[in-house]
Amino acid sequence: MPAESKISRREIDRLLVENETHDCSEGGKNVCVRIVAIADLPTRFGDFQVVAFHSPSDQKEHAALVRGNPIGQEHVPVRLHSECLTGDTLGSLRCDCRDQLEQALTEIGKRDLGIVLYLRQEGRGIGFQNKIRAYQLQEAGLDTIEANEALGFRPDERDYAVAAHMLASLDVRSILLMSNNPAKIADLRFHGVRVEGRIPIVIPPNPHNRRYLETKRAKAGHLLEPASTGLPEQLDNATSPETPTSSRTT
Ligand SMILES: [Zn+2]
Ligand SMILES: [Zn+2]
Repeated sequence: MPAESKISRREIDRLLVENETHDCSEGGKNVCVRIVAIADLPTRFGDFQVVAFHSPSDQKEHAALVRGNPIGQEHVPVRLHSECLTGDTLGSLRCDCRDQLEQALTEIGKRDLGIVLYLRQEGRGIGFQNKIRAYQLQEAGLDTIEANEALGFRPDERDYAVAAHMLASLDVRSILLMSNNPAKIADLRFHGVRVEGRIPIVIPPNPHNRRYLETKRAKAGHLLEPASTGLPEQLDNATSPETPTSSRTT
């Protein structure tokens, strides 16, 4: 990656000053994040810059892995990834989160421009404990979605609000979404992101996650060819608590 094709020192300084006092949480918006630091991050997938975001409202820390300089750019390839401790870090085969993350980083690492948003919302708010509870229920015979429903969870759009804000913070003008899930495009658009297109990605299943992938295909409307055994999205994370207070708007 040529030296000029990354976020410059001057741009970093400007972003940090802007973000220091940034607060858009008034007016009913409950999702606001600030850029607090940007540094080089050489990885096994290529040279990136990593952007540290902090959410003043819930103290979550999110990350953007940035390839090239996306500031003010159109058609920036973007992948959303929700944190999955069991998959990303521990190498679980019950889901394919790690494969998805590695594939996204590999794909974007080959390009001059792209962003992986790493959303630190294990299970989109249901958290690690509840995810393992859902696994326990699946071992009793429920499928992924039934298990989450049995625990009272429902799909949530909060991640998209956070992702949209992160892209806006980086002055990204429009994106190409790396996803097989049309709902993600609609949700991002709802939150004001200009999605100009989609980049599909395909990952073969393994014997442990085949049922999970088939459930996603059958129940969640994912765009998988019948003959393809390809990539789903992170459905095990696409849930949040169904409580009287969970109908929050983002
Ligand atoms: Zn904000
Ligand atoms: Zn996972």
